[in-house]
Amino acid sequence: MQVPFLSFSPQHQPIREEVLQALARVYDSQWFVLGKEVTDFEAAYAKFNNTKHSVGVANGLDALHLALMALGIGAGDEVIVPSNTYIATWLAVSYVGATIVPVEPDPATYNLDPTLLEAAITARTKAIMPVHLYGQACLMDDIMAIAKRHGLAVVEDNAQSQGAMCQGQYTGSFGDINATSFYPGKNLGALGDAGAITTNDEALAGKARVLRNYGSEKKYHNEVIGYNSRLDELQAAALGVKLQYLPQWTAQRQATAELYLQELAGVGDLILPATAPGCTHVYHLFVVRTQHRAALQAHLTAQGIGTLIHYPIPPHRQQAYADNALAQNNYPIAEKLADTCLSLPMWPGMSSAHVTGVADAIKGFFAEPA
Ligand SMILES: *Cc1c(COP(=O)(O)O)cnc(C)c1O
Repeated sequence: MQVPFLSFSPQHQPIREEVLQALARVYDSQWFVLGKEVTDFEAAYAKFNNTKHSVGVANGLDALHLALMALGIGAGDEVIVPSNTYIATWLAVSYVGATIVPVEPDPATYNLDPTLLEAAITARTKAIMPVHLYGQACLMDDIMAIAKRHGLAVVEDNAQSQGAMCQGQYTGSFGDINATSFYPGKNLGALGDAGAITTNDEALAGKARVLRNYGSEKKYHNEVIGYNSRLDELQAAALGVKLQYLPQWTAQRQATAELYLQELAGVGDLILPATAPGCTHVYHLFVVRTQHRAALQAHLTAQGIGTLIHYPIPPHRQQAYADNALAQNNYPIAEKLADTCLSLPMWPGMSSAHVTGVADAIKGFFAEPA
């Protein structure tokens, strides 16, 4: 059975007319940037995420960057980030000229290990950036308690985990100011690039609004050196429609994950995703680990089953950071994850036949004599 890594069809086909109507509404309004659609989506997303404010921006990387700028973080400051994350988290810290301080993950959950945080805190530390990787909530209560004790800001990277929870509270609502991405493949995806900042702090929300729009609150009055990072009306209109379906899509991802977990328990040397106590997982990705990754991936590819690696090279091993002292350091857990992880097909509306088809192909691989 052929199974693509990702298919948008089960999500997009049933809402095609609804989305096209929303796009037509923007077309006919002749208002394309920062208008009613953006304001309405911001209000809806803030409500969904249970934060007071949401500020639409052009993409998730900008959301991270503007969040750090709104906090006034810059040269001479240190920011704690996970050693294993998508490079965007690191880039945002680089953009503001602050120093990246990587901390290793818990090898079971792949998320920032709170017990390693205090050893990384110095007099220069200003913020911690937890990333809810693959859709799993970090242990936010522990992270927030440490941040509070040391007077540090928290900026959640919620790009992969819209709708995930820790102790009943949504990710993206714990930190002082948080970022998310609506890149098409994310759990809530636009029809192009888009992102948002979420915060309960009115002053920080105001700063983010000014920074995304040329540093200007009042047209042609530029208070700070800002950016052009606006969410456009077309994307906001599409996101407004899709947001209504996110809870149901999340439930579908979770049901698919449950079936994978049942089917793949005890198969070969596979390490399956584990959830941390009190945390939920919204399965942006379903990531397994194996010492036989290359061979397993080739076996699945030959059968028409799509897989990807998130991520093959950890940020400290990227050429972009080759001149940085960080490149000299070893982050063995991040390196081990990069060498062994494999993302299986995962999308809302995947049928159980798809899941068992993938599982059978994996069982077939491990049943073959090496
Ligand atoms: C996708 C992603 C981003 C960046 O979002 P873009 O919208 O692509 O800029 C940041 N952090 C993480 C963890 C991501 O997965």
